[in-house]
Amino acid sequence: MFYRIFYAQPELPWSENAVATLIAGAWTGPPGCASFVLFDTIGALRFVKSGNSILSRYGTTVFEVMSQLARAHDSINLGQGFPDDRGPADVLDVAARALLDDSNQYAPMMGMPALRQAVAHHAARFYGLTVDPATEVMVTSGGTEALAACFFGLIEPGDEVVLFEPAYDSYLPIILRAGGIPRRVTLSPPDWSFNESDLAAAFSPRTKLLVLNNPLNPAAKVFSTEELALIASFLRRFDAYAVCDEVYEHLVFDGRQHIPLMTLPGMRERTLRIGSAGKTFSLTGWKVGYVTAAPALMQPVARAHQFLTFTTPPNLQTAVAYGLGKDDGYFRDLVSTLQARRDRLAAGLAAIGWTVLPAQGSYFLVADFTPTGFAGTDHAFCHDLTVAAGVTAIPLSAFYQDPVTSRCIRFCFCKSDGLVDRAIERLGHHFGAR
Ligand code: PMP
Ligand code: GLN
Repeated sequence: MFYRIFYAQPELPWSENAVATLIAGAWTGPPGCASFVLFDTIGALRFVKSGNSILSRYGTTVFEVMSQLARAHDSINLGQGFPDDRGPADVLDVAARALLDDSNQYAPMMGMPALRQAVAHHAARFYGLTVDPATEVMVTSGGTEALAACFFGLIEPGDEVVLFEPAYDSYLPIILRAGGIPRRVTLSPPDWSFNESDLAAAFSPRTKLLVLNNPLNPAAKVFSTEELALIASFLRRFDAYAVCDEVYEHLVFDGRQHIPLMTLPGMRERTLRIGSAGKTFSLTGWKVGYVTAAPALMQPVARAHQFLTFTTPPNLQTAVAYGLGKDDGYFRDLVSTLQARRDRLAAGLAAIGWTVLPAQGSYFLVADFTPTGFAGTDHAFCHDLTVAAGVTAIPLSAFYQDPVTSRCIRFCFCKSDGLVDRAIERLGHHFGAR
């Protein structure tokens, strides 16, 4: 006996799907199809019931797809956002020692006291926030789990959720799965701006919360004080909360300051602030995140967290607690190194004739490929770029729910000079340097 996995269209009867799939011999289906397992014994077909229809609608994430394609074609991967260095040696050392010397059993559900204390200190040190580590900090398995815990913990079916697009890919599926109704505010290149009427169109008395990713992946936008004040005024007016995804909080460039929405008047009790050690210590594989919020908001989110992951590896928590206490020089060097890498990639792309958009923060910069003369979609462009030029990027349209005509792609610049130079060389060679 053997089995095959394929995708089927839920609106078709089972039998037609089976026939269509077998005749076509296609093992992957169009987006929006539910997946089923077909057991094929001697002459007998059997189906299992489909997975959740909301999640089944989404294919594999664009980051995984593009990284797989990059590996298959030995392409330089400037797609998925991860640094290519090893991260700070002292933080790695603390983690390694804790693994060998300390307990490897479940850490407390809300996180190890040392890390919760460190998160509270960090909030006071960088933003002047007073945070009670005992009731206002929770450690999660990465920013991703923190987001899911916030959405599952706070959203009631039918609640409206305001979010900016382009949006990080994990937001919408989980918001929808939690029963939320998304109200999108669409931002467009090159300036990614919005105004009061955009927010007025998205907010309603049914708005439960707003999601704010600042700095914004993939646009590399850092929200201005005026924009934050405008958002805060809507949250107050509609008595809504904000889930603030601030995983790139330490990656803001050109002398800018990161301003947590939580620091604005009236926002301390309304916002949940999410950070991630992955970005702050260039250790994306660690998946250590943290949420800071007033006790009344934290409580429902903790209810979700306890059933999602419950806890996070203790040695990594110990090391992140140590890391958050590193001196100012560490945080300054992180910014200056990344800013130099941004500039290197931007200059290289500009030199081969591409239009590069300003990148104020995050790991990313957005480039417009119109000057290459390519007529297809940004997805097709990224595919061809990987296969033919040996450089991988992410199509910007992947961050929008509805199909958009995008001429932009996202490059990740947190890579060594040598790798960036080789990528530029490949692109120059492929497109013919000007
Ligand atoms: N939010 C944004 C905007 C991200 O880009 C990412 C991915 N790095 C995450 C959340 C997830 O963070 P983590 O890897 O800590 O789960
Ligand atoms: N945050 C990373 C990015 O935007 C991807 C993380 C992931 O692959 N899920 O590239």
